[in-house]
Amino acid sequence: HIPAYSCICFRTFELGLEVMLRRVVSLPLLHVRGGAITVKRGKKTVPFNPSSPRHVCVVGSGPGGFYCADALLRWHPTVKVDMIEKYPFPFGLVRTGVAPDHPEVKNVTNRFEGVAESDRFRFLGNVQVGEDVSLDRLRQHYNAVVLAYGASSDRTLGIAGEELGNVFAARDFVNWYNGHPDYVDLQVDLSGDAAVIVGNGNVAIDVARMLLKPIAELEKTDMTEHALEKLSKANIKDVYVVGRRGPVQAAYATAELREIAAVDGTKLVVNESDLALSEADKVEVEKSRAMRRKMEALIKLKDDQKGKNAEKRLHLRYLLSPEEVKGEEGKARSIVFVKNRMEGPAGKQSAVSTGEVEEIGADVVFRSIGYKSTSIPGLHFDSRRAVAANKMGRVVDANGEPDRGIYASGWLKRGPIGIIGTNILDSQETARSILEDGLNCTLPEVEGEGWDTLRQEVNKPATSFSDWKRLDEEELRRYESPSSLSPFRPPPPTAHTRTRTRTPPPPPPPITPPTLAHTYAHSLHTRAHILLHSHEY
Ligand SMILES: Cc1cc2nc3c(=O)[nH]c(=O)nc-3n(C[C@H](O)[C@H](O)[C@H](O)COP(=O)(O)OP(=O)(O)OC[C@H]3O[C@@H](n4cnc5c(N)ncnc54)[C@H](O)[C@@H]3O)c2cc1C
Repeated sequence: HIPAYSCICFRTFELGLEVMLRRVVSLPLLHVRGGAITVKRGKKTVPFNPSSPRHVCVVGSGPGGFYCADALLRWHPTVKVDMIEKYPFPFGLVRTGVAPDHPEVKNVTNRFEGVAESDRFRFLGNVQVGEDVSLDRLRQHYNAVVLAYGASSDRTLGIAGEELGNVFAARDFVNWYNGHPDYVDLQVDLSGDAAVIVGNGNVAIDVARMLLKPIAELEKTDMTEHALEKLSKANIKDVYVVGRRGPVQAAYATAELREIAAVDGTKLVVNESDLALSEADKVEVEKSRAMRRKMEALIKLKDDQKGKNAEKRLHLRYLLSPEEVKGEEGKARSIVFVKNRMEGPAGKQSAVSTGEVEEIGADVVFRSIGYKSTSIPGLHFDSRRAVAANKMGRVVDANGEPDRGIYASGWLKRGPIGIIGTNILDSQETARSILEDGLNCTLPEVEGEGWDTLRQEVNKPATSFSDWKRLDEEELRRYESPSSLSPFRPPPPTAHTRTRTRTPPPPPPPITPPTLAHTYAHSLHTRAHILLHSHEY
């Protein structure tokens, strides 16, 4: 006969220990007196509550959101996670950013689908935090809110002529070729000869590759239909990727460089003068293996392609800062650049103008100088760095004090840097902070019941993960019966889609007749449309 309170004490302690052991988070000093387990919080003594957090809301379904949800669900035996996503479909930039010819990268969604299978996880698509539901309302309904809504804006050049026609953010173009529903109607004119991409990162190289790759190659990918159609008629022959610093400091990865240099029908052109390294450059290259490999690859690729006969050219240009986009009849025609030189000691060099200018013909211009996060009402936002102000994922106010119950993960937490894998440790750090705060009883106790109550306040249907799955499966099924496809036939399944069709596709979902009347098109726009009209969550 063990007194009931001892059982409660033991179970409470056991649960706390379990959370602690699943991941190294510190268990606070527990006080057991008269059957109650308490924890000291400042001068107060509060009941120890190992099942805290009971309910977490993750905002955003990209890698930053999914890796955090995954860690929480694995490390805490009872926590429930609601994931709120602006669009009816999940996975953020994995769907709308990662290039369509990188299917192996997109396969990470298989892992996220595993997370979504947990019966303690719920996906709520088609709900925008800050518009449909406020952060303050979420605070009242969840013990912890993890903001992982990424970077949905971009940095501008701030130069004359940037507002001209056919000048785009690379982000818009990427969204367009990936079938993002908000960018289906992007009016990009690819009938001219020359495209200039300002920026020297991986996104710039992705954009260049999409412009240069033979259409037959792109058709093998899951690029969206309207983009394939336009790219098949494009006339672009010269693509300039222009960076303000030298080749040593270029941000693109060596693998991306090798991949684009191998594109059929394209010759890599690099000015010999750009490859002359300063003393400081040499020190940088000496110190960094990655930089050394990149420079070696660039020199070798350039030399290998000297005699290559190709219809298209990729010009990698360095040490040029854009000054003005010049136009005719409201459309871009050229960009004036000022030439730079690098100054300063190794590791701290910066681009300084020489005053000399160069004009490059540009029928279409893409600025690719970085994505940028924006704030939502109620969030402590660091406007200078354009991130949620945070310490180890805990959002902090102007005095550095934690805003209890609010956390950040992914690009919103650390800025628009890093690949998908970078989000794993980053999101786990945030999850660990939440669990530690739970054990230390610093998470707010809330009255609200989460989405079950909030749904009544939101004037639109939320879509569930199974809605998304049904639609995804339907799309894959239609790949296999081309008769139901639109005249511009989408490509056959890629490695990405093949992996996802290992199990035989289920029968088509009960989509309402008006939706089926729409000609099927391989785009998220259509997917979203079908989803919203086929089922209301
Ligand atoms: C063009 C491009 C190509 C890339 N290619 C690669 C690659 O090949 N390999 C690689 O490893 N990495 C690649 N990356 C990097 C990778 O995509 C990022 O590291 C990762 O997506 C960041 O994850 P995140 O969750 O922070 O943001 P995101 O992936 O952007 O996810 C944020 C999510 O939040 C949602 N959201 C936004 N606002 C709200 C709101 N108010 N309410 C609710 N939901 C909201 C968005 O719809 C989105 O689903 C690429 C990035 C870009 C931009």
